[in-house]
Amino acid sequence: MISSISIQSAPAAQSAIAGTSRLLHRNVHLFSPLQHHRRRQHHHSPRSLRVRAIDAAQPYDLEARLVMRLNQSTRLKIAIIGFGNFGQFLAKAFVRQGHIVYAHSRSNHLLAAESIGAAFVSDPHDLCELHPDVMVICTSIISTESVLRSLPLQRLRRNTLFVDVLSVKEFPKNIFLQVLPPHFDILCTHPMFGPESGKHSWQNLPFVFDKVRIGGEDSRQARVENFLDIFRNEGCRMVEMSCEEHDKYAAGTQFITHTTGRILEKLQLESTPINTKGYETLLDLVENTSGDSFDLYYGLFMYNENAMEQLERLNLAFEALKKELFGLLHEVLRKQLFGKSEEGDVRPVLEKLPKKASRLLPPGAPQ
Ligand code: NAP
Repeated sequence: MISSISIQSAPAAQSAIAGTSRLLHRNVHLFSPLQHHRRRQHHHSPRSLRVRAIDAAQPYDLEARLVMRLNQSTRLKIAIIGFGNFGQFLAKAFVRQGHIVYAHSRSNHLLAAESIGAAFVSDPHDLCELHPDVMVICTSIISTESVLRSLPLQRLRRNTLFVDVLSVKEFPKNIFLQVLPPHFDILCTHPMFGPESGKHSWQNLPFVFDKVRIGGEDSRQARVENFLDIFRNEGCRMVEMSCEEHDKYAAGTQFITHTTGRILEKLQLESTPINTKGYETLLDLVENTSGDSFDLYYGLFMYNENAMEQLERLNLAFEALKKELFGLLHEVLRKQLFGKSEEGDVRPVLEKLPKKASRLLPPGAPQ
């Protein structure tokens, strides 16, 4: 029984039908030579003011039925679990592309859902009884496991597709494999952009995905492609890679970016009349990263096993840089005080941190 849902997706669905109808319209209205002849006669007729049939879409109309069939084959019922900042951002694209979107979240996001054209379903049992084709898990990384375990999975259709969009990948993959029954499909994804970096367009923005477990039937394969098409259609750069690979790359890129942004944020940088281009980049970085919740950043650290090493490397690099500066200062001071530099003491200079090591090595030392 569905008691407390408010379905607001009708306008989006209607516009999707209208869009496809316009497309079909172009194809359907090809005239035969005889029809052309009659049309010409009609145009030259003195009775040019005639009432013509309006192309009303009757339920028995062939065109309407074709449109419906086309829409049914590609339109997905997508449930978004976790309708916060990123969930709402994704929902806009899903609705825009004509999919039916159900939103579910811990907090009441009814108004936000309504304004986007999605249906807010507060009760997880009601949500699952709507039998979405796709369940998109969009909760904070740290709450994902408890949210997933709390869903009444038995109310879903047997071959539901589960997708996650978490910014770490091995963790949700393992949780999905542990918690979801074997007859559910699993697609792990990471849209590598957010409401700030993707606010104007998703063109060429990376979208990472790993088809972790997809049933062999054509319909299941088609459903995954159908879902991925949303991102292809928006112009994303589609990158298929394993969750493990993703996490290695992401720790060295995304985690470092977010950490640097958060360090700079603590410095409370301000715009000045003499901003250089480099400094403007730093201000942009702070703006880009400070919009994300701390839960997200903490999740990047806690649930990517490579993040700790990157944090240590960052710390070591900073220490090495300070050592280099203080070493030079020390030399200058010694010269001033004693008129000479330290004898026999070769100051170790660490130009670059070794790629894979957590201790400082002097130059030339085997790594
Ligand atoms: P977030 O802080 O990571 O997650 C917020 C969402 O998690 C909200 O929907 C919130 O629900 C839900 N949530 C938090 N704690 C919860 C709990 N204890 N129980 C149930 N639900 C809980 O911020 P976000 O930016 O919206 O990110 C959502 C997911 O998308 C994350 O996994 C993130 O890694 C991923 N992602 C984000 C971006 C981005 O740019 N923001 C980009 C790619 C991927 P309520 O709102 O109902 O409280």
